[in-house]
Amino acid sequence: MKKNKFAETFLSTDGFFRLVVLILLICAGLIGHVYADPPKNPIKVLMVGGGESHDFDTWYKGRDVEILRKKNFADVTYTDDTDSVLDQLEDIDVLYLTNNQPFKDPKTREAIMAFADSGKGLVLGHAALWYNWADWPEYNLNIVSGGSRGHDRYGEFEVTVTDKKHPVMKGVPAKFTLKDELYYYKVDPKGPGIQVLATAKSDKPDTYPSVFVVNHPKTKIVGIALGHDGESHDLDAYHKLLTNAIRWVAK
Ligand SMILES: [Zn+2]
Repeated sequence: MKKNKFAETFLSTDGFFRLVVLILLICAGLIGHVYADPPKNPIKVLMVGGGESHDFDTWYKGRDVEILRKKNFADVTYTDDTDSVLDQLEDIDVLYLTNNQPFKDPKTREAIMAFADSGKGLVLGHAALWYNWADWPEYNLNIVSGGSRGHDRYGEFEVTVTDKKHPVMKGVPAKFTLKDELYYYKVDPKGPGIQVLATAKSDKPDTYPSVFVVNHPKTKIVGIALGHDGESHDLDAYHKLLTNAIRWVAK
């Protein structure tokens, strides 16, 4: 009787080694799967967009919402009506600001500061890291701990992860290039300061923070300077950054 080919393969020394490797791969896959699982309950996210110079509907209301809703990871509401934000803050876990249009109502501005002071997390995307509002300096000082007043002309540059161990950088390539606006984000020394997780550099000499954590005394805040258009929003590295950031600040 002919020996079973499968048994023949795996009962040889070489085959046994292969079997061990196979089992290890399955275990790694299972651990990876468990770790990558969506949270028990979807994270409630309010995303605020709208303003100038960007296609908020396509890249934030469209693409980012789609990324965050995958596998029931987050329960996302997108709005470009800044007057609607005040009433929604109580019911959410994370506020994801991407807008450069103003928050006109002073009560909304105060409520956003109180949201952070209560320990709820924030993620700040691209345009929300700009010095947008001269009449609301507290935002840049306390929430962004600085901001950007300029950027390179839209084009290709390199992002380098500087803190590989931080949960926000999990699965993000150590280096990647993309087309975007390289924001000249600068820390305001009067603010709480930041912890840089990744930097951006073009062919010019200066390096700028690209992904960072704001050392807010009460809550977790992540800034992601990338995100001008689809060249970033379609990148796998960006998807990882965004979901990791939302997950991390929600805890
Ligand atoms: Zn932009």
